[in-house]
Amino acid sequence: MVSPVIVLLRRDLRIRDNGALAAAADTGRPVLPIFILDEENDGVRPIGAASRWWLHHSLHGLQKALKKVGAELVLKRGRTADVVAEAIDASGADTVFWNRRYDPAEAAVDAALKTGVRERDIVARSFDGALTHEPSLLKTGSGGFYKVYTPFWKALESGVEPRDPIDPPSSIQGLKGSLDGLTLDELGLLPAKPDWSAGLRECWTPGEDGAHRRLHDFIEESLPDYERSRDIPGKAGTSGLSPHLTFGEITPFQILAALHKSHGAGAAKFRKELAWREFSYHLLFHNPHLRDRAFRPEYDDFEWRRDGKALKAWQRGLTGYPIVDAGMRELWRTGWMHNRVRMIAASFLIKDLLIDWRDGERWFWDTLVDADPANNPASWQWVAGSGADAAPYFRIFNPVLQGERFDPDGDYVRRWVPELAKLPDRFLHKPWEAPPALLAESGVTLGETYPAPIVDHHAARDRAMKAYRAVRSDE
Ligand code: FAD
Repeated sequence: MVSPVIVLLRRDLRIRDNGALAAAADTGRPVLPIFILDEENDGVRPIGAASRWWLHHSLHGLQKALKKVGAELVLKRGRTADVVAEAIDASGADTVFWNRRYDPAEAAVDAALKTGVRERDIVARSFDGALTHEPSLLKTGSGGFYKVYTPFWKALESGVEPRDPIDPPSSIQGLKGSLDGLTLDELGLLPAKPDWSAGLRECWTPGEDGAHRRLHDFIEESLPDYERSRDIPGKAGTSGLSPHLTFGEITPFQILAALHKSHGAGAAKFRKELAWREFSYHLLFHNPHLRDRAFRPEYDDFEWRRDGKALKAWQRGLTGYPIVDAGMRELWRTGWMHNRVRMIAASFLIKDLLIDWRDGERWFWDTLVDADPANNPASWQWVAGSGADAAPYFRIFNPVLQGERFDPDGDYVRRWVPELAKLPDRFLHKPWEAPPALLAESGVTLGETYPAPIVDHHAARDRAMKAYRAVRSDE
């Protein structure tokens, strides 16, 4: 009997540019693709609720795509090593392939798997796909890892050209019935009572086809003006590819290949943003505790305020600062928030409310469809000032000025905070300054129809500066 090849599919839910799957198909032997929901290994972080919704639909798409080329995706829950051992015993496989993961806890699971299966004389091989650079191989001149984005970007730019995408297998010899799996519903990923996913359904098409459609539309419609419009939250000026990248439905190799004929400022900026994602993974790979420890250790002495009421107001979009509230409501409804507003909302939580960035990181982890093990903690630490190459601690976003600058016509705030829609632009980002008659005319009663600000930004700014100076050794 010909031994089959097991292919593990986790954060690489695609059949195109999938090195592990293509190599398995190339052997000409039967292929057993398995997805494992592994939340049982120490240190592996269970994904959040919005990501679970995404994963359900992405797996559905992958099942269909694999079926078309002849293979059956087996769904399992449990410890990766146990499931693979069971699969080897049940199928007689002598080879296991997978695409590399870079979250340190997940990478540790895979490293242990490699050792374990090789001890049984099983071939184990991993492939690239998620990143264009290998974090363990890209080193600074002195042999360390990069802590600053610009030299990192230069190193990426001057390194080897990213490889071409790998063709999808046209047919795979499937292996039916050798291993019992769960049904998609049995994985229990969808919200039930209540089902809060209507907004997510309206905005997104999870899966590989949805990813490629987004890339195509973005290149056609928004790329040329990306440099300017990417900062305007009222416009659809960015790609919306983040959840597709997070779940590996599309690879950076495919995106870069699709961009190769685009030479304008938009394309150049977009490549640099993609490199921020590579940089986040580089940092995470070398700092496994990125989500729970400050990259600059002195920041772990920070005296954060414990204020459950303020945290809740922030989470629900009821802070009284319209641009912050618009962002938090966009997040709740769609599972995504515009990057500019992520920075403003995060700065508000950390600096205006002096609440620990880890609380914000956890909320985003649960509510974002693109919740990413690297981008999320790296970005939170960037805003907090505790990260590598972070925003300077004295950079405290003024939510009114940010709103006026990046949402000057109020399109964004009016969409997400409709109770302020009738206020004229002049007061939209600071309703508390509007004359009482104008507020009444616009149907706004502060403290009733819309909250009064929960903190005074200027006083909060002074408080934050004092708190930051207290922990900084160089002050
Ligand atoms: P585009 O502008 O179209 O960019 C294309 C791709 O480049 C993105 O999909 C993303 O992969 C990458 N990218 C863009 N900007 C950044 C950035 N600043 N840092 C790292 N990569 C970037 N991004 C996530 O993917 N997951 C997260 O969990 C996440 N959490 C964040 C939390 C905070 C507090 C902040 C300030 C930013 C966070 N980001 C996160 C980064 C950024 O906001 C999103 O990547 C971006 O908004 C996604 O939208 P897009 O795909 O339309 O971006």
